[in-house]
Amino acid sequence: MTPFTAMLAPLGGPLDALAHFDRQEAIDAGIDPVAVDKWAELHTVYFGATRATRKQAQALRIARSTSKSLDQLVFIEQQVKKAKDPWKTRLALLSVEGNYATLKRRAKDIVEVPEKPAPKTSVRFTKSRKGKRSFTATGSERDIAALEHALRQNLDATRPEGPQMYEAFARLLRSGGGVASAVPRPLVVVPLADHISILGGRGDETILGLSDGTTMTGAEYLAQLHGAELEVALFHPAEGAVNLYRTQRFANSKQRDLARATMTTCPVPGCRHAADHCEIHHITAWVHGGETNMANLAPVCRYHNRTNDDDPWRTHRGRIRRRRGSPIWVSPRGKPVPNTTHRYGAMHLLFGEGGA
Ligand SMILES: [Zn+2]
Repeated sequence: MTPFTAMLAPLGGPLDALAHFDRQEAIDAGIDPVAVDKWAELHTVYFGATRATRKQAQALRIARSTSKSLDQLVFIEQQVKKAKDPWKTRLALLSVEGNYATLKRRAKDIVEVPEKPAPKTSVRFTKSRKGKRSFTATGSERDIAALEHALRQNLDATRPEGPQMYEAFARLLRSGGGVASAVPRPLVVVPLADHISILGGRGDETILGLSDGTTMTGAEYLAQLHGAELEVALFHPAEGAVNLYRTQRFANSKQRDLARATMTTCPVPGCRHAADHCEIHHITAWVHGGETNMANLAPVCRYHNRTNDDDPWRTHRGRIRRRRGSPIWVSPRGKPVPNTTHRYGAMHLLFGEGGA
C-alpha cells in the first residue's frame, strides 16, 4: 500500500476514522472549515444520538459493504437534505455500488424531491450599472410566452438573439398602447445668493447647474424664468429648499417637488429608488409632533419609509436626518452615510459634498 492509497482509503474505511471525529483536531491540522462542518454532520448522522437506531446501524453496515468514500458520504447528505424521506433516501443511495460519478447519476432517479411552490408573481428592477438596468418579470406562463413570441418575430439569424429581442422589446414599449417614456421635468436649481445677484442684473457671470447635469447662465435663466415649462427652485446652502416658482401653485405638490429636487433618490445608501417613486417622509414623525414643512420632509422609498426608525428611542435600522439642508441616512450607531447612487440632488449639485 502506497501512502497515496492510504490517503484515498484509510485503514478500516472513512467511517472508522469518522467515529473518532474531533473538530478542533481537524481545524488544527489545517482542514478547510467547510469540510470540517461536513464531517461533523456525517459524525452526527452515523454516530450521533438518534431515535432511528436500527436504520443508523443498517446505514453503517451498507456504507462499509459498498466501500463509500468520504466524498460520497458527503454527497449523500447533500441529497438527503432535498429529499422527502431522509433515511429511506440515505439507505437507497448507500446501496449504490460504484464510483462517485455512478452515485451521482443514480441519485437523479433515487432522490424524490418534494414539489416546490409556484414562484410569486412579481417584477423586480435593479440599479444602473454603466448606464444599463435590468428587470425580471415572473407571471402567468401564457403572458410571458406571448411576450417571448412577440420578441422573437423577424429575428436576423446572422446576429445574436438577445440584443435583437431587446430592440423588439423597446419598440413594443414605445408603440401605441405601450409605455410612455419617463419624462423627467427639467428643474433649474439656484443657490439663493446667485438668485439675488441675477435679479440684481449681474446674471451674465453666474453659472447655474440644472438637475439634468447641464448648466445655463444667469441671463438665460432670467429669459426662461417666465416660460411655462421651466421650473425654478431656490436653495439656501444651510436651509435647503427655499421656494419653487411655477405657473400653478398647489402647496402640497410644491413641497413634494422641492423635497424631490433636494434628493433625486431615496437617501438610504445603495437604494436606487428615484425620488419620483418615493413617498414623502416626515423626518420627525407626525406622531411625535413632526410638522409638514420643508425642513421636516424627505423623499424616501416605500420600503425604507417602512423600515425607518421613526421612534427616537429605536436604534434598529437607522433613520433619516437632515444635515446642512439635505436629508441623509444615519446608521443605528449614529454615523451619517450619504447615498451615492445618483448625485444630482440640488444640494449636492449646488454646494458639493457638504450638501450631500
Ligand atoms: Zn430606499
